[in-house]
Amino acid sequence: MDKIEHIGIAVKDLEKSNELFSKLFGQPHYKIEEVASEGVKTSFFKTGPNKIELLEATNADSPIAKFIEKKGEGIHHIAFAVTDIESEIARLENEGFTILNTTPKKGADNKLVAFLHPKTTNGVLIELCQEIEHK
Ligand code: ZN
Repeated sequence: MDKIEHIGIAVKDLEKSNELFSKLFGQPHYKIEEVASEGVKTSFFKTGPNKIELLEATNADSPIAKFIEKKGEGIHHIAFAVTDIESEIARLENEGFTILNTTPKKGADNKLVAFLHPKTTNGVLIELCQEIEHK
């Protein structure tokens, strides 16, 4: 596993939170992207070399809607960059971690992603992400 790629924060109202985090970081978000398959709308901020992803649910069945219902707004996941997501999934499964999707799926920001079940990672939802290469 490489560096932290981004930190995901669950929010109720993306528009309001974009304003709030723009003030916090002193610069606006650089992109908004909807991932329909996950029922989320995301926005991304850069803070130096780091990235923050805000996530808003687009429907009631969205994992973000369920998260906010249970825990309220706040830090939702930590994403780590990997260079070979398939082999990293195999390695982690072998180590006894539960992978929520063993087949990587397309996430926001041009990434292939997979999530680890928080039950096997001390309550922290971990996202693996690999940059999709353009050919
Ligand atoms: Zn993420």
